[in-house]
Amino acid sequence: MPAVQLQSLWSATAPAGPALGALATARRAHAVIVGAGYTGLSAALHLQLAGRDVVVLDAADVGERASGLNGGQVIPGVKHDPDTLEAMFGPDLGARLVTTVAAAADLVFEVIARHGIECDGTRTGWIQPATSETALAQLAVRAQQWRRRGAAVEMLSREEVGNLTGSQRYCGGLIDRRGGTVQPLAFVRGLARAVLKAGGAVYTHSPAIRLVQEAGDWRIDTPQGSVTAATVILATNAYTARLVGALRRTIVRVPSFQVATQPLTPQLRKDILPQRQAASDTWHLLRYFRTDASGRLVLGSRGTFAAAPDLRAVRHQYRAVHEIYPQLQGIPFEYHWGGWVAITRDHLPHLHELAPGVLAGLGYNGRGVAMATTMGRLLAQRVLGAPASELGFPVTPVRPIRLHAFSGLGARATIQYLRMLDGWARTRAG
Ligand SMILES: Cc1cc2nc3c(=O)[nH]c(=O)nc-3n(C[C@H](O)[C@H](O)[C@H](O)COP(=O)(O)OP(=O)(O)OC[C@H]3O[C@@H](n4cnc5c(N)ncnc54)[C@H](O)[C@@H]3O)c2cc1C
Repeated sequence: MPAVQLQSLWSATAPAGPALGALATARRAHAVIVGAGYTGLSAALHLQLAGRDVVVLDAADVGERASGLNGGQVIPGVKHDPDTLEAMFGPDLGARLVTTVAAAADLVFEVIARHGIECDGTRTGWIQPATSETALAQLAVRAQQWRRRGAAVEMLSREEVGNLTGSQRYCGGLIDRRGGTVQPLAFVRGLARAVLKAGGAVYTHSPAIRLVQEAGDWRIDTPQGSVTAATVILATNAYTARLVGALRRTIVRVPSFQVATQPLTPQLRKDILPQRQAASDTWHLLRYFRTDASGRLVLGSRGTFAAAPDLRAVRHQYRAVHEIYPQLQGIPFEYHWGGWVAITRDHLPHLHELAPGVLAGLGYNGRGVAMATTMGRLLAQRVLGAPASELGFPVTPVRPIRLHAFSGLGARATIQYLRMLDGWARTRAG
């Protein structure tokens, strides 16, 4: 079977990024940041705006990895509900952590407004449509916990979900009005422009190949240059490689794959997500979907581990589209693309201090548009002198996952297991 031609909708439709090149000199800066995605560029922007000069290095181009490839769903919060976070971290840090994650989507839309980033930012909410009555009951608990904390989170009836999504597949759901969507590549390119405008430097095709301590500072070497700085921020998430091996072993990466239809007819656009919310359903292997500015339906779900997926591998996505929207049978698919998601053992993002002056933020478990942007600000606040105890986010030691070498096998087995759970639930639902 021939390989599917991979092209991302976002790279076909985003405004061009700034003209950038590789680092070819030895430079000094206050902070050097490895990774030009949301984490690295948000950290750079917040540091630069506070008067610290930064240099950002990326092995690829800005947004060539997850920050330019994702679903663009701006989702407040993390996987755990607020009461669970408070139980995990206690009433003091737990409550401040809830405040931090609750505001994550606000930060995205504030940054967009403040820096005039043109990225089709749409803030009409994030819907979780329920695939079963059990899932619906769990959503009701979630909604109630957030409402107790003053968040605009409401339950939706079967009919309301049907009207908002255009799908009759779900038995009800939740809407979190803090959420929304962005054109993800346009957002990350806009962040890069904002960093440059604030006076920072961004170098592409400049992989950090060595990190060495030198006379009380840190030096990062690239193939043709180097940056010496008091502070290093590692912002490489699922694409973390061998620069700091222990960090790579704190995450397991799993593939996520998306497809986009051709622009829908005006009639279908009135029916399907007419208010343009983001949606992620409650299957264990969830499907996330939205529309873009031209009215295409964009859907993602678990991906294939194959580097060059064939049609069989992406038929899973087509089936998901047609299961949710039978009315889209026969509408051609125009774009196919995927990327890697970083999963942590506790399903929380992590902020680490690996050594004095070396920080890292990663592990967004598929919810990095809002959380990575927030993590960048947290990293900047820490570099600017905020005590770890006042950050509103736990600073944790690096704890590599045991038997990490086998984690790829574990990720495959976990995906099979979750698929089996969803299969049983589908059978029970008839
Ligand atoms: C297909 C897909 C769909 C997703 N959908 C959503 C969604 O809808 N909503 C949501 O909230 N989240 C989503 N996510 C997750 C989200 O995209 C990520 O959590 C987020 O982009 C992480 O940002 P980052 O800056 O930490 O990492 P990245 O954007 O991956 O950036 C890391 C950068 O580090 C660079 N790098 C790595 N090693 C080096 C080195 N040695 N030297 C220099 N540079 C290096 C890489 O080139 C890369 O550019 C999705 C992810 C994927 C893959």
